[in-house]
Amino acid sequence: MATIGINLKEGTLEQTQDVIVGIDLGTTNSLVAYMKGGQAVCVKDAQGKGTLVPSIVHFTDNEGFIVGDEAKIKLVTDPGNTIYSVKRLMGKSFRDVQDMEGFFGYKILDDDAEALVKIRVRNRFYTPIELSALILKELKTRIEGELNAPVSKAVITVPAYFNDNQRQATRDAGKLAGLDVLRIVNEPTAAALAYGIGNPAQASADMVETIAVYDLGGGTFDISILRIENGIFEVLSTNGDTFLGGDDFDQAIVHFWLEQLNIEKKILTEENKFGQRIRLLAEKAKKALSTSDLFEHELDGKRISLTRSEFENLIEPFVGRTIECCKNALRDAGLTPENIDKVVMVGGSTRVPLVKKSVSAFFERPVFDSLDPDEVVALGAAIQADVLAGNQKDVLLLDVTPLSLGIETVGGLMDVIIPRNSKIPTKAGRQYTTSVDGQKNLKISVYQGERDLVEHNRKLGEFILSGIPPMPAGLPKIDIQFILNADGILTVRARELRSNLEQQIDIRPTYGISEEEMGMMLLDSIQNAQSDMQIRGLLEARNEANNTLLSGDKFLKQNADMLDETEKATINALLTALREAASGSDKDVIHLALEELNTYTAPLAHRAMDKTIREAMKGKKV
Ligand code: ADP
Ligand code: MG
Repeated sequence: MATIGINLKEGTLEQTQDVIVGIDLGTTNSLVAYMKGGQAVCVKDAQGKGTLVPSIVHFTDNEGFIVGDEAKIKLVTDPGNTIYSVKRLMGKSFRDVQDMEGFFGYKILDDDAEALVKIRVRNRFYTPIELSALILKELKTRIEGELNAPVSKAVITVPAYFNDNQRQATRDAGKLAGLDVLRIVNEPTAAALAYGIGNPAQASADMVETIAVYDLGGGTFDISILRIENGIFEVLSTNGDTFLGGDDFDQAIVHFWLEQLNIEKKILTEENKFGQRIRLLAEKAKKALSTSDLFEHELDGKRISLTRSEFENLIEPFVGRTIECCKNALRDAGLTPENIDKVVMVGGSTRVPLVKKSVSAFFERPVFDSLDPDEVVALGAAIQADVLAGNQKDVLLLDVTPLSLGIETVGGLMDVIIPRNSKIPTKAGRQYTTSVDGQKNLKISVYQGERDLVEHNRKLGEFILSGIPPMPAGLPKIDIQFILNADGILTVRARELRSNLEQQIDIRPTYGISEEEMGMMLLDSIQNAQSDMQIRGLLEARNEANNTLLSGDKFLKQNADMLDETEKATINALLTALREAASGSDKDVIHLALEELNTYTAPLAHRAMDKTIREAMKGKKV
C-alpha cells in the first residue's frame, strides 16, 4: 500500500512529482509553504510583506466574503459578520462548545445540541468545515499565484490532541477547498521535521530521541512530548490550555495601562473604539519588548509606558501555568526533564524572552528557536509533503491505507471510520444507535472510498447484528470498531453495549482492486467533492427535518388540551412550511424553517413539561 499520485488535468496516475504544499491551518494565523530549490519556504502575500494569513473570514453585505488581513480589520467594525477562531469549533457539537459561547462574537446555533455546530451569518448557515475551507482556498490562491500553476495536493497540520472527528473535519475542509489532503500531520511533528529532527538523512538512523514541542500561540498553549525512532513519530503525551496565549499578555498590559492612566475598566466594554485601540497598542508594546527594554507611546495626549521588567511581572503567572502543563505532560509520559533530548519552540508568543528563559530553565537545556516560530509548523508540513511526493528518498514512508473505510448511515451517507492514508496497523470506532422503536436488527454495510454517498463507493461486505433487545429508538448503544492490521486485513466488530451482544467479520479491503481502480476512485472523489458536500449537507438537513416533523406531530397530539387554537394553527403552519422546505433542495431554507419552528415551540415545550411534572406530583401518594 502506498500513496498514489494522480494528474488532475489528464486524469492519469503517476509517481507523484508535482508540488504538494504544506499548510498550517491555525487558530489565529494560517500559512502555506512549499519546497523551493530544496528548501522549505512560506509564501508571502501579493505585496511581499508577510507570510501570515489571519484565520478570519468576513462576510460582506453583498453575499461575498474576504479572508485574512482585510477581514481582521472588520473584527472591530462588524464583529457579528466576522468569524475568527473557527478551529476551536472543528468537529464539535454545540454541547461540546456551549461553555465557550461567551468567547465568540458571532452566533452559534443551539437548536440541536448533539449535531455538529453551525454558525449563523445573516441568513445563511455555515459549518466550521465550510469556513475553514474558505481560509484554505485563500492559501491555495496564494500559492497558485506564486507558482503560476494549479495546486491540488496538500498536507495539513492539526494539534496532536485532535480526535478523529476534528481530523476528519479538517480533511473535509481541504476537500471542499479543492485540495486532496494526502496527510494530516501533527503540528509538533511538523515543527520537529522543520528542524531536521527525526529525519534519518540528518541523523544516524537507529537513533531514538525524545523531544518536547512547546507551542504558545495567540489563544492556545500546547505542549507535546514525542518519541522518534527510525523516522517514526510517536506522541507520548500532550497537555496544554485551550484558553491561554499571547492574547492574555495583551490584556494584562491593557489593565496595567488603565491603572497607569487612572481610567476605569468599564471603558473597555463601552461602545467606542478606545478598547480596541488600546488593545492593539498593547500587542505592539509586547512585540517591541521582545527586543527592547522600554516601550513608550502617547494615547489621547497622555504618555503610556511599559518596561521589560514590568511586562515580565504581568505575564509571569501565565508563563508559570505553561510550565505546570509541561510538568503534567512529562508526568503522563513517565519522564523527567533530563529525559528530554531537544526542546522546540513554536508559536508567535515564544518570541517573548521570559518565555524562552523559563522553558529553557525548566528543561535544563537551550531551546531550538533559530527558525521563525510563526512559520515552523508550515515549513515542517512542506517537508512532510515533499517526503510524500517521493523527493526525499532516504526518508522512510510509513504504510498507509490508500482509501477511506467506513459504513453506510441514514440516507446512504458514507461515515468514514478509518480515513485514507491512516498509518497501519490502526484501530478506530464510533457509536451508533437504532432509528426505529423496538428495532431488533441492524445491518452494517462496510464501504471503501472517498465519496460522500456510499453508492459511489465500493462495498466490501455487510453483516447483520441481530437479536438487539427491543428498546425505544435511539436507546441502544451500538459500538462499531474497525481494526486494520499490518497486513491490511480489516476486522469489523459490532457490539450492543447494553446487552453485550457482539458480531464481527473479517474483510480484506484491497482484495480485487487494482491500483488503477484505486486511483480512479480517488480522482472521482476530488472531482466531485463540491457536489458531494452539497448533497451531504442537504441530506443531513432533510434527516433533521423529518425527525422534527415526526416529533412535532407527536407533540401536537399529546398536548392538544394544553394548546390554544392560535398556537395549534401556528405550529401546523410552521410544520407545513418545514415539510415544504424539506421537499425542496436548499439546505439553508430547511435550516431556517427548522429554526423558526424550534424558536416558536421551545417555550410551549417547557410549559408541557411543567404540566407533566405537576400532574405526576399530584398523582403521587406520599
Ligand atoms: P496560532 O498558532 O494560535 O495561530 P501564532 O503562532 O500565529 O498563533 O501566534 C500569534 C501570537 O503571537 C499573537 O498573540 C501575537 O501577538 C504573538 N506574537 C507575534 N509576534 C510576537 C513578538 N515579536 N513578541 C511577542 N509576541 C508575539
Ligand atoms: Mg500555531
